[in-house]
Amino acid sequence: MDKTRRDFLTAAVTATGAVVTRDLAHAQDHDHGHSHQVVPSDLTLRVKSLESLLVEKGLVDRAALDALIDTYENKVGPRNGAHVVARAWADPAYKQRLLTDADKAIAELGFGGQQGEHMVVVENTPEVHNMVVCTLCSCYPWPVLGLPPVWYKSAPYRSRSVIDPRGVLREFGLELLEDVEVRVWDSTAEVRYLVLPERPADTESLSEDALAALVTRDAMIGVAKIVPRREGGST
Ligand code: FE
Repeated sequence: MDKTRRDFLTAAVTATGAVVTRDLAHAQDHDHGHSHQVVPSDLTLRVKSLESLLVEKGLVDRAALDALIDTYENKVGPRNGAHVVARAWADPAYKQRLLTDADKAIAELGFGGQQGEHMVVVENTPEVHNMVVCTLCSCYPWPVLGLPPVWYKSAPYRSRSVIDPRGVLREFGLELLEDVEVRVWDSTAEVRYLVLPERPADTESLSEDALAALVTRDAMIGVAKIVPRREGGST
């Protein structure tokens, strides 16, 4: 980054009230051929400067930003998807609705909206294993899974999931039997997928909330299976 732009961004960070460390000042003073881990990344600086400009111009207010961040940190996340999955396991009629009209069924539980307008739910069975990728970028069903994990956005996952899905699953610790069919679903800006994982054995007595607690984000992306938790934690 050229010095002028970095100076501008650093000034903007200061304006937002962020702490500029002594190391940052040090890094600006001279170029001495090694990196400083404590220096905020260019992306962080860019975001903060953009935020400060938007606030300064009155285009956004901080309370609205805080509300948005709170939504994606606390309200939207894989717990929503887990709730959907647990309902489908517990209620066969709901499961049928979920598999035939996912948007409506998910909305029944109060979830939906941005980045989840057109959902398709695909069911894992002993014969078929589904996994989800976005080969182009990072399309992901925000209302039910929150924001995508870093690996989901990475180039190796995006490219290799379609070339060698079994190999990728193996790296996640999931070894599928040879006769299991693997289906890879490529998300787009229009359609987002959610995997309905297989219900683990010996969970008949569990409540819907207890079932939801078993469901993991990775299982809903299709890179893991759900393993029932053992009572007592000894195994
Ligand atoms: Fe994408």
